[in-house]
Amino acid sequence: GRPPGLGIVLAGADPASEIYVRNKLASASAAGCRADLHRLDASASVADALAVVARLNDDDAVDGILVQSPLPKAMGHDAEQRVFDTVRPDKDVDGFHPENVGKLVQKRAALVACTPSGVMQLLAREGITLAGRHAVVIGRSDIVGKPMALLLLHADATVTVCHSRTPDVAAMAREADIVVAAVGRAGYLTPAFVKPGATVIDVGINRVTDRSLAEALFGEGHPRRRQFAEKGSVVVGDVHPDVDAVAGALTPVPGGVGPLTIAMLLHNTVVAAEQRTR
Ligand code: NAP
Repeated sequence: GRPPGLGIVLAGADPASEIYVRNKLASASAAGCRADLHRLDASASVADALAVVARLNDDDAVDGILVQSPLPKAMGHDAEQRVFDTVRPDKDVDGFHPENVGKLVQKRAALVACTPSGVMQLLAREGITLAGRHAVVIGRSDIVGKPMALLLLHADATVTVCHSRTPDVAAMAREADIVVAAVGRAGYLTPAFVKPGATVIDVGINRVTDRSLAEALFGEGHPRRRQFAEKGSVVVGDVHPDVDAVAGALTPVPGGVGPLTIAMLLHNTVVAAEQRTR
């Protein structure tokens, strides 16, 4: 009897966050959700952010709450944790609340972090077998690497998680049938990390403004090099473009995992709305 409602909280004026939030609002409206933006100044306090979340928690027309990360540095180092912990678990469409993370560990979560669940959709829809295969996840963040590893484990893959203290990430990754790169370093995953024919998922979104790096990644005449020349920057994943020649399947950046993240946000909003009206 009513559209699913999504409340987005945006604090400060981080340019990348502005773009992400604009895309999320547009996609939500296009899908028939009601999406409202709640802005806070860059000078707002954690108490201000907690107050907005408390209001959305109590608002019956709001099924899902998303607090755009990062929060302004001035809010303090533990601001995100405090704010995410305050979102009602049944409205936690980002899947960051400890209750939902705990349920994910136990394979009974309804609301799961959007980026890794988008990757799972991508793999399923491409018909890529996970059961019995070896998956290597590079990155162990709470929003991508860790939930990604759990979802792959629940899909019966054998999972290895690598991070900045792993001695030889390339050797680990070369063992994998499926590699997920969630590192945050442009072109990090070179062909030396990839077993021929492996499936490579590029989660990274890195804006490159350094000409020499852009030229090292994209050879003479490459369309992305021209794009850099025109705009002064180019968005690049964590996977080096040369991996295309080695991988069996590779997700593009932009246009791969990113749109799936938004799709899963809308999915979670519908799930939250259905749960609350049941
Ligand atoms: P993050 O919190 O910075 O985590 C990066 C992870 O990579 C950390 O676990 C870090 O290890 C590991 N790492 C860093 N350098 C490494 C190295 N040289 N070798 C091996 N591991 C290394 O980043 P995040 O939030 O997970 O995001 C990762 C990337 O995905 C970023 O580019 C981000 O923009 C992108 N992203 C995309 C989407 C999407 O919708 N497509 C959504 C979220 C994030 P330690 O833990 O040891 O420091």
